[in-house]
Order: sequence, then structure tokens, then C-alpha cells
Amino acid sequence: MRLSQMLFVTLREDPAEAEIPSHKLLLRAGYIRRVASGVYAYLPLMWRVLQKVSQIVREEMNAAGAQECLLSQLQPSELWKESGRWDTYTKAEGIMFSLVDRQEREMGLGPTHEEVITAIARDMVRSYRQLPLNLYQIQTKFRDEIRPRFGLMRGREFIMKDAYSFDADETGMKETYQKMNQAYHNILRRSGLAFRAVDADSGAIGGSGSQEFMVLADAGEDEILYTDDGKYAANVEKAVSLPADAEPSPFKTYEQRETPGTETIEKLCQFLNCSPTNVVKNVLYQATYDTGMTVLLLVSIRGDQDVNEVKLQNELVKLAGQYGGKTVIALTVPDQTAQEKWAARPLPLGYMAPNLSDDYIKPAKPAPVGVKAAGSVVPKFLRLVDKTAVELKNFATGADEAGYHVVGANWGKEFQLPELVVDVRKATAGDRAIHDPNQTLQSARGIEIGHIFQLGTEYSISMGATYTNEQGEEAPLVMGCYGVGVSRLAQSAVEQSHDKDGIIWSVAIAPYQAIVVIPNINAAEQVQAAEALYTELNQAGIETLLDDRNERAGVKFKDADLIGIPYRIVTGKALKNGKVEVVNRATHESQELAIADVVLHLKRAIVDASMPQP
Ligand code: ATP
Ligand code: MG
Repeated sequence: MRLSQMLFVTLREDPAEAEIPSHKLLLRAGYIRRVASGVYAYLPLMWRVLQKVSQIVREEMNAAGAQECLLSQLQPSELWKESGRWDTYTKAEGIMFSLVDRQEREMGLGPTHEEVITAIARDMVRSYRQLPLNLYQIQTKFRDEIRPRFGLMRGREFIMKDAYSFDADETGMKETYQKMNQAYHNILRRSGLAFRAVDADSGAIGGSGSQEFMVLADAGEDEILYTDDGKYAANVEKAVSLPADAEPSPFKTYEQRETPGTETIEKLCQFLNCSPTNVVKNVLYQATYDTGMTVLLLVSIRGDQDVNEVKLQNELVKLAGQYGGKTVIALTVPDQTAQEKWAARPLPLGYMAPNLSDDYIKPAKPAPVGVKAAGSVVPKFLRLVDKTAVELKNFATGADEAGYHVVGANWGKEFQLPELVVDVRKATAGDRAIHDPNQTLQSARGIEIGHIFQLGTEYSISMGATYTNEQGEEAPLVMGCYGVGVSRLAQSAVEQSHDKDGIIWSVAIAPYQAIVVIPNINAAEQVQAAEALYTELNQAGIETLLDDRNERAGVKFKDADLIGIPYRIVTGKALKNGKVEVVNRATHESQELAIADVVLHLKRAIVDASMPQP
């Protein structure tokens, strides 16, 4: 491709709309263009990168035995009602774009395809002889993200590869999962990315396991905890660890003490001269179930620990049945305004006890007979205690009165131990690892580019997708699902690999592998040599650009660096010796090569660069 004929517009300045380097660079280098919030046009260079990534994904999926298909983006609401996700996706979480067609039928734009694929499997898979089956597609997904940001990282329209597997049983599903796990490692390695596979939260659906593939980058939205021995890595949402031991309590007898101005654990410990591990703190949360029911929670946890809200959410979803619902749609720490809606009187914030009285909650208004009280508040605190707090003896905690705490308290004496004992503590860097207490957890930031998931029979049971097994019995299909953010992966590569001059693509996913630059298009010998090399390189299968624009050499070099093409060939001064300059974008190394040697040299360099790294 000749730059003179291409839609090629680069910007000198960083665009104001972008915060992180990869987003700035993709905009500046003319790869993408914003159309609306979270909606981007992939310009010709970007489209080539996306096709390269897609091809790697495709090859690895095929190698793992998956078959490519293309499902519909428009999805009928009926299917989502069968799985029970229509209301959660369109109303509660509101992540699905939905519409009503002119026949008054409700439709959604696919944010994911479990429903569609399960309906197809239900109709087409009859016998165990058709199993295992693994189908994938590479397609645009739509999600009305609350905070679309960072360009392609969190878009409202983005490209995903999603695969869905169907097996006869749990064992088969796990084998498929392992194959996909390997395929995901291969995809990331081949794309030239530094990454980690980590244990991930699989939500309350349970499922026997899930892993996320994290591209390591400071701008990542996720925190990863891992050990140096390579034996443990998890998303902080899921991570487990050993908490530090609690220090012996300095309190011997139970008493109430005046503790003015100690609404934080730090101030309290200073005042009482004790360790945060001697304190039981009581954290207030407000959860809303999909039925509209609001539940107020009091979580008691050791003073030095924090609540992991993902773990807490999972515990709450397990209780959804009690509130007539299926899931939790919001979990927050209620602020002043939220508290005013349900509190009968101001709460002793900072001084709450595990037995905070239920009459802080306004009594429920009786609903008219026959009317289901929607949007109502359960007039009793749901009390949970984290394991770290259960073991404490002679602890300090709030006295339910502003300015007062109690010390020397014990479960079973002054306070009743809440019935719900849970593990909701947040693991943090520096904690000891469970598999080996000599290892401490380290922290890194990552961008989730893939998620593989042992789904089990959740969808096949709710949607009635069964098959006849070898014994002639009807059994639900056992499913797995596997996603890769293709467009997110492409941008992550830039986030991980760039310098002050621009993008540094790996050869595997660069839009072009080489660019021939003519420093001065008025010099006939430069043009001639460049044209010849351009043709020869492309014929040799090296995807090459030709910068034949009527621009200054400096501008062209800057642009070549900005767009990040791995090799730049300059038909400049060295021509008089029959040579050209070849510059490596990543290292800035430059060498003069005889014109006749360029093709072979680049072919070798490209093969070397594509070799899997150890
Ligand atoms: P996240 O936690 O980042 O929102 P998710 O858990 O919703 O991701 P999945 O539903 O598992 O993601 O989707 C599979 C993959 O699709 C993700 O691993 C990610 O790479 C990509 N992806 C998800 N949401 C977006 C988005 N809004 N923009 C770009 N890529 C996305
Ligand atoms: Mg998401």
C-alpha cells in the first residue's frame, strides 16, 4: 500500500479525550476514530491488526477442535426469558441494548451468546454421538457499559471471540476446558504479549472454575495477586490468603469506654493503644435484589481486614431465594442520602456494634392486601461475620453510641455470633500464601483479555437443552464458555509495547511488517530503488508500505515510528554505495544493507521474531 493513496492522517498532539498511552497512540496514529461514546471506527491500519489477531485466534480455536460459525446479533427476548436473564440484562444491570421492532417484538443486541447457542444445541444435538461439540464466532458485541473508557479497552461496541462447548459430562467438559486453556496461552504468546493466567471469580453461578488471562500493564483495571514460585495467581476478586495472626488482646475485662473522635480503626487503636487485630469492625452495606427488595447488612470483620465486595456479593446471591429473587443487582455502602431513606434515626457510624439494633430501620409499611411490596426494605439487619473476626477473644468493638466503644468483648457472652459465618476478606499484597506460607503475595495490574469458564448445566437446564446418553437416558448438556476481547487485546498490545515515539507492534500483529521510506521524492534514484524494493518485498510475502508522500524526510520517519511498523527501509544517502538503511522500530538499531540482501534479511528477521518465546 502506498501512503500517498491511503487514508493516513496522524496527529502531532495528544487528543484530549484520551487518558492512557495506548488510547492516545491509536488516535494519534490514525488507527481509530471515535464515533460516539464507547463506539469507534476501525480505520484501515487498525482493521489489519484486528484481522491479524482474529487469524491467530482462529488458528488456535481450530487447533483445539472448535468450529467457526456466526450467530445472529439480534436476539429475541424469548430466549433470554427462558434463561431468566432478560430483566437483569435489560433493566437491572441495563447492559443490553434492547429494542422493540415494528411487529412489537422485543429484541436485544447480543452482549454475549449463551442463550442463542444453547437454543441451537437444544434443537440440533440429540445424541451423545454428536458430542463433544465446540462452536466459536468472532463478532461485534454490544454492551451499554456504564463507563465506557480507554478507547477499545472498554467499548460499547467491540469485537469478541466467544466459544461455547457442549460435553456429555463433567469430565468431558474439563478436558475441553483444558484444551481451550492451552489455546488461550498460545494466542497470547503468539501475539507477543506478557501475560498471566489467573484464578477468577465465576460469580454466584458457581461452576467448578474459571480463569482470566491478564495482559500485564499498569493501566489495567484489574489487580492480580501472585507468588514468585509461580504456583499461585488470582484476580484480587477471587484471591485467598492467610491473614496475619492476631496479636494477643491487651483487654482483660469487658467494659464500655469513652473513646471520643475514634470513628476510624486507626484513631481507635491509637486511643486504646491496641492493634487493629484486636478490633471487630462492623461495616454497613445495602444490597438490592432483582425483586426490588433492599436488604441492609452488617458485616463484622477483624479491624485490620477489608471486605472483598465480590465475595460478599456471591454470598448474598446464595441467599437470593430467601428474598424471592435470583440475583443481587446493587451492593453499596449507603451514603447519608441512602441512609435517610430507611433509617429511623441517625446511625452511630464509626461506633456500631455487631448487635446494632434493628429498630434503626423504619418499620415496613404494610402493603395493601394482594399487592406485592416492591422496592421495600427488609426491617432487620442481615448479620454476617467474617472468619477473621470469629476467632477473636477479648476484642474491642463499637458500643452503638457515638463516642463510645466496648473492650474485652467475646462472642457468646456480650455478643451473639452471627449465624452467617463467611469468608469475605480481601486478600492483599504482603499476605502469606495458602499453598506455602513462606511465599508472600505480590501485586500487579492487568488487563483482562480473556476469560474461560466451566459453566456446567446452568443454561442447559434452564433452557431444556438435553441429549440422550449412552444408557439411553435424557441428560443436560454440560457447557463451557470462553471469551477473548479481540479489540481489547489489540489495544493491550499497544499499552504494553510503546515508547515516546509511538507504537511498537510485534511482527505477528503489526498491520504491515515493513515500510519503505523515500526521503526525497524528487530524487529519481531514491524513488526507483524504493519502488523496486516495495514490489520485491510484497512479492516475497512481506507486507510492506511505501511512504511516497511529498513530505519532509523527518516527518516520514516520525510517522513510521508513530504507527509502529517493525522494520523501516530508507532509500537515502547509502544508495550511492548500493545500500539502504534498515531500522528496527523496537530497538532503533540501524544497519546498512546491500539492496540485494534486504528481502532475505527481513524474511529471516520476521521468522525469528515469530518464533515462540520460551
Ligand atoms: P469486564 O470485567 O472487563 O467487563 P467481562 O467479565 O464483562 O469483562 P466477558 O463477558 O467474560 O467479560 O467477555 C469476554 C472478553 O471480552 C473479556 O475478557 C474482555 O476481553 C472482552 N470485553 C468485555 N467487555 C468489553 C468491553 N466493554 N470492551 C472491550 N472488550 C470487552
Ligand atoms: Mg463486563
